[in-house]
Amino acid sequence: MIEVRELNKRYGRTTAVDNLTFSVRPGGVTGFLGPNGAGKSTTMRIVLGLDAADAGEALADGRRYTTIERPMHEVGALLDANAVHPGRSAYDHLLSLALTNGIGRSRVREVLEQVGLADVTRKRAGKFSLGMKQRLGLAGALLGDPAVLLLDEPVNGLDPDGVRWIRELLRSLAAEGRTVLVSSHLMSEMALTSDRLIVIGRGRLIADTSVRELEERF
Ligand code: ADP
Ligand code: ADP
Repeated sequence: MIEVRELNKRYGRTTAVDNLTFSVRPGGVTGFLGPNGAGKSTTMRIVLGLDAADAGEALADGRRYTTIERPMHEVGALLDANAVHPGRSAYDHLLSLALTNGIGRSRVREVLEQVGLADVTRKRAGKFSLGMKQRLGLAGALLGDPAVLLLDEPVNGLDPDGVRWIRELLRSLAAEGRTVLVSSHLMSEMALTSDRLIVIGRGRLIADTSVRELEERF
């Protein structure tokens, strides 16, 4: 479960997150929808302990990752698909992540298979398309077999087959009982991907609804 309570964050004069409260339960895909600049990444970064809130709280399975290090088996994250060192192969990137996190090397092959990169494990990440980088980022998020997943715009750069693939993957991860929060700035995409929608704008909560409920009103 992810719990965000009265969260506030400013960068200088910009209010990125404005008294935001919501929770994400396990067992379904929750979409985090809002236009660019709405505060989605900032919220995720605070949950992950990569940025500090000015006020309020952000917890993943009851833990606050501001002071303790976040183990990969507790929370997996995809934040920026371009963050991988361009000179590294997909395999080496994941292996070093695995080794520094106490994860066995056999898991590297498993996640490469799972994200459809088994044939390009030796290729350098700098030569990857954006879609392949997203897959590699996702492999990193899945490496620790985490109970909670935060994925920031994972669909960006994927072709239609890739988009369909990721939808199914997200559903199966959620069906295993994981907590899955996926951000996007595309309403049409989120309606197809998610069971529940948390919509924000200018850092504030606009709507928190199940997709079925929303569809019934149309
Ligand atoms: P989203 O993920 O919804 O596109 P962000 O969380 O990235 O939104 O950004 C929210 C707001 O905070 C934007 O106005 C953005 O410019 C600003 N912002 C985000 N990160 C920083 C930062 N490190 N320094 C200054 N401003 C930032
Ligand atoms: P298998 O197909 O081998 O049963 P699964 O992918 O269903 O594997 O789940 C195996 C592992 O996934 C578990 O050992 C656990 O670490 C992780 N897992 C799945 N769901 C959860 C959950 N809700 N909370 C924590 N871990 C989970």
